[in-house]
Amino acid sequence: MKYTLFLSILLALGFCTQNTTKVLLNLQEHAVSNAEVEKLVSANNCKDKENYQTSLDYPDHTPTRYVRVNFHFIDNKAGTSNFDEAFGTKFAKKLVKECNERLRNNKPMKLPKNQDNVALPINVQYVLTGEEGNPKDDGIYFHKHDSLAYFNKNQKSRDYWLFSPAQYDNFGIRKKEVINVFMLEHHPDSIASKTYNPTANGVGTSKWAKVAGAYYYYRKQFKKHNNNLDDIDLGVFVGHTNHEIGHSLGLAHTWATNDGCDDTPKNNNCWNYVEGSSRCNWGQLSNNVMDYNAFQNAYSPCQIGKIHYNMSKRSAAQHKMLKRTWCQFDPKKSINIKDDVVWGSMKDLEGNITIENGASLTIQCMVSMAPGSKIIVKPRGKLIIDGGLLYNDCGKEWEGVEQWRKRKHLGKIEFLNDGKIANVANMLEDMKSKGDQRRRN
Ligand SMILES: [Zn+2]
Repeated sequence: MKYTLFLSILLALGFCTQNTTKVLLNLQEHAVSNAEVEKLVSANNCKDKENYQTSLDYPDHTPTRYVRVNFHFIDNKAGTSNFDEAFGTKFAKKLVKECNERLRNNKPMKLPKNQDNVALPINVQYVLTGEEGNPKDDGIYFHKHDSLAYFNKNQKSRDYWLFSPAQYDNFGIRKKEVINVFMLEHHPDSIASKTYNPTANGVGTSKWAKVAGAYYYYRKQFKKHNNNLDDIDLGVFVGHTNHEIGHSLGLAHTWATNDGCDDTPKNNNCWNYVEGSSRCNWGQLSNNVMDYNAFQNAYSPCQIGKIHYNMSKRSAAQHKMLKRTWCQFDPKKSINIKDDVVWGSMKDLEGNITIENGASLTIQCMVSMAPGSKIIVKPRGKLIIDGGLLYNDCGKEWEGVEQWRKRKHLGKIEFLNDGKIANVANMLEDMKSKGDQRRRN
């Protein structure tokens, strides 16, 4: 079978406006097989985390990632140390809702002081997730256990230990696909001790997190407000839960360690402003989510880049925890390119891409197009696949690239530096016969 030349026209599909013709490109020359796609995607040559930061100008170019979470409340056998089922369910739902609200409302960093710190969109949300195919499972679970119910921040071993995986080992559900969050309480013996401060505490790993002390912290308010959660401000535990899940997403503390980010300065880790204090004054106070402070409402651009990099990396735990929203075509998530834009990060897109007249899009990395989606290049638009790969990450097909023509103008497409394309519906037959031909030779 003889192949048509690069950029030749396969089909005239119809008219969109008067004198504008849509044509479908022959992408055959740049097509790669599924095996090669897999190799390219797992090798990922786009490791610069800075390129994974979201953009104020183009927030939709980094689609929101949905992190699957579930919640486990572990009570003692007597049922006296944690939320009961009805109230715990309401509490978890409200907590997730408010954590998501805070994630949608990122604030500029207070540190470094006197700098024009910007708050980029975080584009991350949590989604409570139960067992697959069980609509009755809301992803909120209740267990009874006399030692796993507790947490002791001073204990260095056994079940109460901060890093003990015993809760996850015993009660974890959909391990590796869902971040399992355990709601624990301080041990009554610890609380009874005058030297033990039973505040909000916890830990986060890539597969599970512990959030300790919520029931103890709020129990007086529950009584006061007649168990009406609407009147109770969950702010402290919203920040705290985001902090622990922040660890799960790959972030480190910022106040004392090198967290790999230049925009999260070391600081005195003050909870709040203290009048007259040289240590905890406004110039020292952080509002970053990965410090312990009363605000915990800022994710720095570097932290956001790190999270999105981890979520894009196929071998990372953070990628496996995502709801695969990019496997379903959603036209509402379509992206319009109106300027000259370069994508230097892996992306998992959910809608079409339209490159408007006078605009260009340069793709340097792996970009997954949703099943059934397409790229439209308007007559004066330009698509450049510069070492990148356009493919479908879900084992399905997408519709390829439409080159629009108006009079002498034809949307341009260029392949540079071994740019590639795969999984386009209309070229699969050709791919197959190409493979057959090779085998015959
Ligand atoms: Zn921490």
